[in-house]
Amino acid sequence: MNEYDSNRIYDIAKKIHYTKTQRLEEADCYVLNTCHIREKATEKVYHDIGRVKKEFKNKKKPIVIITGCVAQAEGEILIDREKYIDAVLGPQSYQHLNETIRKIEKESKRINSTEFNTVEKFDTLNLLKNSNNEISTFLTIQEGCDKFCKFCVVPYTRGAEFSRSMDEILNEANELVANGAREITLLGQNVNSYNFKGKKLSNLIHEISKIENLLRIRYTTSHPLDFSEDLIKIHEVCSKLMPLIHLPVQSGSNSILKSMNRKHSKEEYLDTVKKLKKINPKIKFSSDFIIGYPGETENDFIDTLKLIEKMEYINIYSYVFSPRPGTPAANMEQVNREVAKQRLKVFQEKAAKIKMCYRENLFNKQSLVLFENKIENSDKYFGRDEYLNSVVVKSNEDLKGKIFEVKILNGNQSTLVGMIKKKIKETPQYNNVRN
Ligand code: SF4
Repeated sequence: MNEYDSNRIYDIAKKIHYTKTQRLEEADCYVLNTCHIREKATEKVYHDIGRVKKEFKNKKKPIVIITGCVAQAEGEILIDREKYIDAVLGPQSYQHLNETIRKIEKESKRINSTEFNTVEKFDTLNLLKNSNNEISTFLTIQEGCDKFCKFCVVPYTRGAEFSRSMDEILNEANELVANGAREITLLGQNVNSYNFKGKKLSNLIHEISKIENLLRIRYTTSHPLDFSEDLIKIHEVCSKLMPLIHLPVQSGSNSILKSMNRKHSKEEYLDTVKKLKKINPKIKFSSDFIIGYPGETENDFIDTLKLIEKMEYINIYSYVFSPRPGTPAANMEQVNREVAKQRLKVFQEKAAKIKMCYRENLFNKQSLVLFENKIENSDKYFGRDEYLNSVVVKSNEDLKGKIFEVKILNGNQSTLVGMIKKKIKETPQYNNVRN
């Protein structure tokens, strides 16, 4: 979502004639868009500002603005501690970027704007052209969360659940496809809780799939509790919807799930998975896990290991629990750090084995790959298969924006190497809704 926000921040700044630069030393204005999910996010902000300070030591100071969830959670502290910061704008306030820049330019004012103006933000964004021209791109359809998992800052930093209107989303999707996008990933903290005046994620996917030239649709991140029957069904009927579902579960132990306030059991999770697999056997899953959550016993951990074996996730994001200030879990009794780290090591080794086993199974088979770009200074192209696996092939032909059948030759944990077999022209499986 931060990648989407960063692009929109740029769309806003363009209105007052700022352009992007990849060179730090050229910047007149430095916007650091932050994420609070990662550990040590705040220290990273001070570290990055340190780099800017060093670069501009003997030059005119650039405007420095901190946006994103760290700005939301720690705005006051940031402004007080680091005088080099001119403004902090929360994730629901970045529509005020231009007036903030103008105020700083004219009055050298320091600004802290962290109100939850989600409606106003999207009203502003709807008036701007989304200038992103990538083959695979993001589109935010929903923000915020009402679930309040005990470890998570999102309900505090992004606010309550909010769904954009179908019309606005469809306009933006059309614009992105007109700019060259061939794959759109619909984004939301609880993407499958999308509900605009009774229209749900399944309705939205159905409408978006009608856009000509859009080849692939994905959505993330889903909550197991919001996997309604209509959403499961759309995986049977919508051919543009990719068969990979990111479905975080966080733990394989029911007592930990309860303590996390996840509001579902392991059995309910597995039941949803079963329904999805039944309706579309091609579907595979990725997930997120927190290891060493307060109260996690050895038996809880073993339950988690059993779950990843059973699920055969093709990708897992896992972290040792780290308390986020202000969340209930931060005040719970913590698992010994060394024990938690050791469990994470065991967990990640198992996850890596499962992943490699899956990937080795792809060798010498065909995958459908949508190519996104040519790798700089080489004759290779980069793309992704239906399961988001990165694939690299050699080609003298321009593959960008097209789907090819690729024979996978070999690969490792991060990249698969393949060779082009044939171009997929009017593939029936990508030709809109099946029924
Ligand atoms: S559902 Fe996701 S975003 Fe919401 S509180 Fe839980 S972990 Fe955070």
